[in-house]
Amino acid sequence: MTTPLPKPIIDLTGITKSFGTFQALKGIDATINEGEFFSLLGPSGCGKTTLLRMIAGFETPSSGTIMIGGRNMAGVPANRRPTNMVFQSYAIFPHLSVAENVGYGLKARKMPRAEIAREVERALNMVDLGGLGARAAHELSGGQRQRVALARALVMKPKVVLLDEPLSALDKKLRDQMQIELRQLQQKLGITFILVTHDQEEALTMSDRIAVMFEGRIAQLATPEELYRRPVDRRVASFIGVMNFLDARATGPINGHLALDIPALGSIALPSAQIPEGLDPGRLNSIGIRPEMLTILFDGNEQAEQVARGEVTGTAYYGDMTYYSVRLPGHAEDVTISMRNTAGRSIVPAGSTVPVGWGAESIVLFQ
Ligand code: ATP
Repeated sequence: MTTPLPKPIIDLTGITKSFGTFQALKGIDATINEGEFFSLLGPSGCGKTTLLRMIAGFETPSSGTIMIGGRNMAGVPANRRPTNMVFQSYAIFPHLSVAENVGYGLKARKMPRAEIAREVERALNMVDLGGLGARAAHELSGGQRQRVALARALVMKPKVVLLDEPLSALDKKLRDQMQIELRQLQQKLGITFILVTHDQEEALTMSDRIAVMFEGRIAQLATPEELYRRPVDRRVASFIGVMNFLDARATGPINGHLALDIPALGSIALPSAQIPEGLDPGRLNSIGIRPEMLTILFDGNEQAEQVARGEVTGTAYYGDMTYYSVRLPGHAEDVTISMRNTAGRSIVPAGSTVPVGWGAESIVLFQ
């Protein structure tokens, strides 16, 4: 069986936005597909909310084109677009019932009452709140309120649901649960969801693809796995998870491999397939390696492709995992190594000299 080709639903071309002399978006090109869970991820002020509001029709681009479902959205007001925005749960009206909250948009569209009641119940069932329509909104828990906010968007039958940090007001445990619920609901409905978030964990766990934004530009648009394993630059690498950076330089090509000298770890020949497109080996100055890709070799039986030596300078115990700070020769900053606390593994105390295993495959090159 072949996987069907993704079908674009939103096409963004050359989008810029200026507020006075300040340029908030500096040329955004992206395609978002039907049925995709897509996230705009970046630090505060990078322009992600501005971009979402433009897709919704609350903001106009200074230049560029927004196509939704093959239609140019220039001049199309928010209420005529096949999109609907989910706001944070506190944006629901506390004095109205759940059903009145959810049916608000349909009432504004002058839909007959009986039909509104039917559509509201259908939307409430989607978010597992069936039968709770008569409740006052202020009687609901935080998670239930968030689901009302979602039902209020879904009742309008949008092709694209836009979510602006919808979970940020919830506590950590509820947020984790809602992330799973939202993702499951999106997959069940098959509607495109676009999420704005500054929380990399949230983006990684929920999205099919993520656009990482800095200062009005998309730095990388990729799947969560690609972003984590092959970040395009040091900024993306540091924003997504933890990355150890080590000085490195290329010493030359050898038989389809790139010879690398990494003073803190040793020398290695990297298969050329691992060299990212566009990277100039002459300008290579560092490598990145994730904490779980470095291994403390606990006894003589554990093996690794390459072995360096380091000194444990500190430990942080998390129950299932221990994070080690390890000093490698000639490297000023300690690296972080994460180790699973499996049976029989005791914690290595600070001051111990340990063999550190690593391998070519987990190395990311930066220039
Ligand atoms: P946050 O997570 O803090 O909301 P963001 O990435 O969503 O950040 P935006 O809200 O899109 O960022 O804002 C991008 C930049 O544009 C910010 O520097 C912001 O101050 C500026 N900006 C946004 N809206 C306006 C406006 N109406 N007038 C002037 N400047 C604005």
